[in-house]
Amino acid sequence: MLKNKDIIDEKDKRLRTISKEVVFPLTEEDKKHINDMIEYLTNSQIEELAEKYQLRPGMGLSAIQLGIPKRYFVVVHEYEEQKFDNYIIINPKMVSNSMEKIYVDCGEGCLSVNREVEGIIPRYARVTIEGYDINGNKIRVRGREELAVAFQHELDHLNGILFYDHIDKNNPYKDSDKYRAI
Ligand code: ZN
Repeated sequence: MLKNKDIIDEKDKRLRTISKEVVFPLTEEDKKHINDMIEYLTNSQIEELAEKYQLRPGMGLSAIQLGIPKRYFVVVHEYEEQKFDNYIIINPKMVSNSMEKIYVDCGEGCLSVNREVEGIIPRYARVTIEGYDINGNKIRVRGREELAVAFQHELDHLNGILFYDHIDKNNPYKDSDKYRAI
């Protein structure tokens, strides 16, 4: 089972790596990592399990956060009270996005960043991602609102970008009136 300490911290330079495309078939190791990520993210969003296993709540993880420089991520989205959808996207690409931008009002979080970060991160309100499932079949996934934010956050990880890179340090709430808060 994945523990907090298995997730690398922002101080670790590996998070700045540009991850490499996955070649199919997936290795057994990658399949195991994916299952571990799903388990961690699901448990972390169930309060009693999060407490029991001391997990920080989160909805997304990319492979590089486990130190693996490969282009895949997992998002576990609570679409209804304690009901979850799993998104496992390999070699993801954003193929379309809305004009509208949003930001997470309470701030975006990251399992690799163990501190509060002030500021807003404008994200597209709706995105379409293309990629592959674990068997190498082409998939196309749409996300809106917090799911769209999660996809964009995880895509950034694959390119070595952390969410706070998007924040203007001198004016962390710059242009917040131009975007919709969620
Ligand atoms: Zn993150």
